[in-house]
Amino acid sequence: MTTGTESTATVRGQEVSTEHYIGGSRVASEATFEDRAPYSRELLADVARGGKAEAEAAAQAAEKAFPEWAALGAAGRSPYLHRLADLIDENVERIAEVECDDMAMLIRSLKARVIGRGARNYRSYADLAVAYEERDWSSNGTWNRVQRMPAGPAAVITPWNAPFMLSTWKTAPALAAGCTVVLKPPEWAPLSCSMLAELADEAGLPAGVFNVLQGIGEEAGAALVARPEMRRISFTGSPETGRLIATTAAGNLVPFTAELGGKNPLIVFADADLEAAAQKAAGQYDDAGQVCLAGTRLLVEESVLDEFTKLFKSKAAEHVLGDPRDDATTVSPLIHPDHLSRVEGFVDRARDAGDKIVIGGRPSDAGELFYEPTLVEPASNDSEIVQREVFGPVLTLQTFADEAEAIELANSTEYGLSGIVYTASAERAERVGRAVRAGTVWVNTFLVRDLTAPFGGIGISGIGREGGDYALDFYSDLKTLQILDGTTE
Ligand code: NAD
Repeated sequence: MTTGTESTATVRGQEVSTEHYIGGSRVASEATFEDRAPYSRELLADVARGGKAEAEAAAQAAEKAFPEWAALGAAGRSPYLHRLADLIDENVERIAEVECDDMAMLIRSLKARVIGRGARNYRSYADLAVAYEERDWSSNGTWNRVQRMPAGPAAVITPWNAPFMLSTWKTAPALAAGCTVVLKPPEWAPLSCSMLAELADEAGLPAGVFNVLQGIGEEAGAALVARPEMRRISFTGSPETGRLIATTAAGNLVPFTAELGGKNPLIVFADADLEAAAQKAAGQYDDAGQVCLAGTRLLVEESVLDEFTKLFKSKAAEHVLGDPRDDATTVSPLIHPDHLSRVEGFVDRARDAGDKIVIGGRPSDAGELFYEPTLVEPASNDSEIVQREVFGPVLTLQTFADEAEAIELANSTEYGLSGIVYTASAERAERVGRAVRAGTVWVNTFLVRDLTAPFGGIGISGIGREGGDYALDFYSDLKTLQILDGTTE
């Protein structure tokens, strides 16, 4: 671990630090790991590979900065977070350019909505924390107050799909609530989180309030969550990693929140706008299906199966696989060769087990990490391809006879992140919306979200809720103060 001349990578003309950001300084590690672009497969950067020593330094920096940051109060912290939001807005193009090379999301999605959502996260928590800091009332001859006390340093661990936005989704409420933060970015797409550190520095956040620890999950991530300084652990990633971190959190008795995988139903009733439903279903191939909320299990009412399938196939056939920077491209590559092998393995096992491949089913010749948009008709609801998250451009298609069967199928996996329902009936929307077991259910729409709404999963899709004041609760210790009326002046 050394400080001194900073190592940077130049990506699309943007200088990005490849080092940790600890206690307000850039810090190198002797070891590094390679970060390659999914589309071009070029080496983008050799990134600092943190371990126990760096995790300790970052945790101690966050602990040292905590008392002063907490003492500022929500109103005192708010201007820093507004400044950071403004800086994100000013740098959307730069961050999008780097993240497009780093994780291959379509550049137009990054520029139009994904990176800017980071600014919205910061702006909304800068205001929300002030509005929700305390509540007081009188009852039974006493004056009562509930105070949100900042919990302490928080470890934040994020995945590689939309790494910048997902990191702001956690770090914004943590910082607004008065926690200091150590962020561990994903090793398959680590660069845009380094840019968040650069902007936090520019926004004037005091040294140690926001730290970035780069490295491999099993090394830097595991070392960070085990640090005794961490008073909260917030994780987004796979259920497998979630289980490991939960064990560490339990050992240290540290509150832990987890946003995990999804195997979400997209239910199409016969009365729905089939054109819109098919468009939405087939549109989910765009980021190579690497979206936790995607409705990957298509459940279609039997009477409209043929019509829906025809519409779906024609829309899926319009996709263009290619460079995520090209306007014509609609489907990007997968993130990493290991992930391509994982996706291939799922579909190959499905084929071997007797599931029917309706479209796709093999790697594409569009480039090294492309997989064809794939639709599978499973032999049974117990098929692995129905029951496990693939996190690739792979959807399954099943039918149902009536509403009761639709709900039964929708709720038949261990996951419960989201549900999507297409119907023209308000009564059915209400009934099915209530019955689907998931953290979020959308009807006739998808992925629109109010930032004050709770967000999270049921079952192996997650523990706890983020969003709005739910996240502020997580990053705070709530204290009740009661004073007997008439005993103080
Ligand atoms: P992952 O679990 O492999 O890794 C996520 C993060 O955890 C990475 O930063 C990684 O370095 C770190 N990590 C890995 N092992 C660790 C350990 N032992 N200790 C501490 N940290 C460790 O997940 P991924 O492949 O990066 O992301 C894909 C998964 O994330 C999918 O399951 C997807 O559904 C899920 N996801 C969920 C949401 C949500 O909001 N529910 C959002 C995006 C992605």
